[in-house]
Amino acid sequence: MAATASTTSHSLLLQKTPQNHAFLKPNSTTFTLTYQRSPKPFSISCSATTPTQDRPLVQSQPQDRVFNFAAGPATLPENVLLKAQSELYNWHGSGMSVMEMSHRGKDFRSIIEKAEADLRALLNIPEDYAVLFLQGGATTQFAAVPLNLSRPDDTVDYLVTGSWGDKAFKEAQKYCKPKVIWNGKSEKYVRVPSFDGLEQSPNAKYLHICANETIYGVEFKEYPVPSNPNGVLVADMSSNFCSKPVDVTRFGLIYAGAQKNVGPAGVCIVIVRKDLIGNAQEISPVMLDYKIHAENNSLYNTPPCFGIYMCGLVFEDLLKQGGLEEVEKKNKKKAGILYNAIDESKGFYRCPVEKSVRSLMNVPFTLEKPELEAEFLKEADREKMVQLKGHRSVGGMRASIYNAMPLAGVEKLVAFMKDFQARHA
Ligand code: PMP
Repeated sequence: MAATASTTSHSLLLQKTPQNHAFLKPNSTTFTLTYQRSPKPFSISCSATTPTQDRPLVQSQPQDRVFNFAAGPATLPENVLLKAQSELYNWHGSGMSVMEMSHRGKDFRSIIEKAEADLRALLNIPEDYAVLFLQGGATTQFAAVPLNLSRPDDTVDYLVTGSWGDKAFKEAQKYCKPKVIWNGKSEKYVRVPSFDGLEQSPNAKYLHICANETIYGVEFKEYPVPSNPNGVLVADMSSNFCSKPVDVTRFGLIYAGAQKNVGPAGVCIVIVRKDLIGNAQEISPVMLDYKIHAENNSLYNTPPCFGIYMCGLVFEDLLKQGGLEEVEKKNKKKAGILYNAIDESKGFYRCPVEKSVRSLMNVPFTLEKPELEAEFLKEADREKMVQLKGHRSVGGMRASIYNAMPLAGVEKLVAFMKDFQARHA
């Protein structure tokens, strides 16, 4: 590497430096290249790493990282970040970064195929479902779903348990005849209704739910069944995707933006039953037609290659953790600790969501004395716990504790909350 750079008559000093890079693996070597004859001497450091390690061997230095409670983009698994770092410069000896590869070359094909295979293994996705890696975020799916699953005169049902479901409904109004069959807005979105009393439209092509409302922290623990035998259940799983096992066969279509649980922003995953593909409305843009993407294995145009690669690393990591049953156990433990702390605070902290549907991923809570909120956030920030401010539309606090939030992060938050209460009650 560095040595090949010495092609001029100018002197180059190659000097091995101590291994002090924050995320360096022990089998890495860092060189400093000092260029002496330039008008101004300068030096460049570069590191060589063994490219195909399964997991980086050295832990990052915790003092470099904060506990990031953001709702998305959100914290990613540290070992995934480290692996991506080790492969960033030269992926598996290909001589280039994943960011530089042709999406049609065999290297990238192996990446996207492995990502899909690992996701299929994680969620036990049957062969009669297609897996699509798309762009445009979950918001684009608010339009793609009605465009692909309904005709302009068709009725479709929306169960609205928060503002994402509401947004999905409003977008569908442009393409078909959606009906809100239940809306939790008047109660400030704190619950999921009983399914027995729902008045579904007899001919609804689909019933849409948002499986986890990221802002309000309301999560479906059971799923409704469409009353139309030819209708299907559709779920926006953006904020609880791969956080627990899901019976995919209960759904006609699942979609999820990646940037909460499974990767960086820029990738949206759609899992759709194959017999539902191929009926897009004529006005559908080509980029919103599932048939086009399914026939081209998500490579119709240039996909978000690096994001898909990152999702693949996350899927691999989730499998190594033992799959989604294990992941769910960890998520239940983390959420349990936090909700207990809130419920045991004698009203100092309060979570408005009905206990039976509290989200394992997004925990909203308010302070009894709202005037303390700014101080709470400031002190938490000082303790390297960031992004705890609730969504601008609801205020209060929200701790997003996705798969990648370590138990230590939740324990630290709870200890801080107790201490804050002791000082401010
Ligand atoms: N649905 C849910 C449940 C979300 O949480 C979000 C983003 N926070 C969206 C949809 C919109 O996703 P995107 O920004 O990727 O379009």
